[in-house]
Amino acid sequence: MTDPIRTIVIVGGGTAGWMAAAAAARFLNDGQRRILLVESDAIGTVGVGEATIPPIRDFNNMLGIDEAEFLRETGATFKLGIEFVDWGALGERYLHPFGDPGHNFEGIAFHQYWLKHRHDPRIGAFTDYFITAAAVRHRGCAPQSGDPRSPLHQMAAAYHFDAALYASYLRRRAEAQGVERIEGRITGVARDGGSGHVAALRLADGRDVAGDFFIDCSGFVSLLLGKEMGVAYRDWSRWLPCDRAFAVPSARTDPLIPATRATAHGFGWQWRIPLQHRTGNGIVWSSAHAGDDEARDTLLANLDSEELAEPRQLRFTAGVRERLWEGNVVALGLAGGFIEPLESTSIHLIQTGINKLFWLFPDRSFSAVERDEYNRLMIDQYEYVRDFIILHYKATARTDTSFWRDMAAMEIPDSLAQKIELFRTKGRIRRFDHDLFGVANWAAVMLGQNIVPDGYDPLVDATDDDRIIAAMERIASVFDQQARAMPPHADYIARLVAR
Ligand code: FAD
Repeated sequence: MTDPIRTIVIVGGGTAGWMAAAAAARFLNDGQRRILLVESDAIGTVGVGEATIPPIRDFNNMLGIDEAEFLRETGATFKLGIEFVDWGALGERYLHPFGDPGHNFEGIAFHQYWLKHRHDPRIGAFTDYFITAAAVRHRGCAPQSGDPRSPLHQMAAAYHFDAALYASYLRRRAEAQGVERIEGRITGVARDGGSGHVAALRLADGRDVAGDFFIDCSGFVSLLLGKEMGVAYRDWSRWLPCDRAFAVPSARTDPLIPATRATAHGFGWQWRIPLQHRTGNGIVWSSAHAGDDEARDTLLANLDSEELAEPRQLRFTAGVRERLWEGNVVALGLAGGFIEPLESTSIHLIQTGINKLFWLFPDRSFSAVERDEYNRLMIDQYEYVRDFIILHYKATARTDTSFWRDMAAMEIPDSLAQKIELFRTKGRIRRFDHDLFGVANWAAVMLGQNIVPDGYDPLVDATDDDRIIAAMERIASVFDQQARAMPPHADYIARLVAR
């Protein structure tokens, strides 16, 4: 016999809170259970977080969201990769394209063939073999094909969207499906004397909100998991020293590029996220290496279009809570941790947290085994992402500022050092269970940051070189033709939105 959770209380109505509420409304609302969400308009949300990675489409699909409606409601555009400017060295740029490249001949990763033949004049840049990179080059977009033989099969897309519009869209859906929103500022927490579990929230106006299970989506303040339960924060700023950001919207620019741009500066980097109605921009930097004024001026000097508001400052420390589930509290989003926005993984970690939570959803006995498994899986996810982000800073030839010299000289986690070492030898990618980023992602960024292996997988030698080179030439040419024939990204969206 199980003793089911009867009342779920979600604390916070930012992206994390409304993603959790929309998913709970869809999957946990059995008619017996109440789902409450408490938020405070006076406190507000961080309101940034506009670039995603392809699994976001699984989340939207899981909720039964119609893509055309979603595009209309959130000002969204498609994102086929991230363009990195001035990272590996000043004056260089590379794309981290989504999807897999070319074709894994004989079951061996495509980049191994590219490594062997890259000096042949008939062979192009690694990214010439991604359909998504071809689409970004031609500013086009097209739907992904379900047919593995089609060049469009690897048209893996994510979205850029307006974070505030996405949260309100999910809110409308969640409320329509029975989630009860409570407006109010939480000023206190009541705990159960025996178990130590959270029993109720006390609001500023004196109301109490009681529940069995609490999902802490309160943002950086981490109201329940951090402040109330006292779960410590693992500080990763020795590897990821960027701790400040300014965000500013600017006017829309054309053509509408189907990619995020991340431009490295002397003390951090700047994002550019094209939406239908505006461009999202921001600078992320290390306060140990530059002051607020310098960062703000650099951001504004590097906008492609007129700013539409005053830059807004945000502060953070890269890291994660030691545990993301404690007692009857699970933290999602910024309340659990944050690894800075390069590679746009934060919303994905919310999605992963929701998926794993539903897989291990507790009853009122709160089994320690389920809790521990959740914590193990989620901390692993954060560490995988952490290593991927550190790679971008560590693998640089830049020595022009103290920031980049510090980055190049820093000690990195063993897990990443071993990964780089293995790649340097024969281009092999060491992957872990459930590693978010695949072989192609790691290969694209390692190569983009100029980590070029000394050799390649010897199994590649078993395949006829002329056949492979001819196939690679064909792939690059077909992808380029396909991309040229795609509608411009802006037209593609306009057509979908008009449906
Ligand atoms: P918040 O948006 O801060 O929401 C917290 C909620 O809790 C609010 O509703 C607030 O009112 C409520 N609350 C807090 N205290 C109380 C209280 N006492 N009483 C009642 N309610 C309370 N992620 C990406 O995936 N892609 C990106 O491109 C990206 N860019 C980013 C850039 C920057 C500079 C930063 C800082 C983050 C970025 N992120 C990005 C992360 C992303 O913004 C967050 O993951 C996402 O917005 C989720 O935030 P949240 O819901 O956890 O917190």
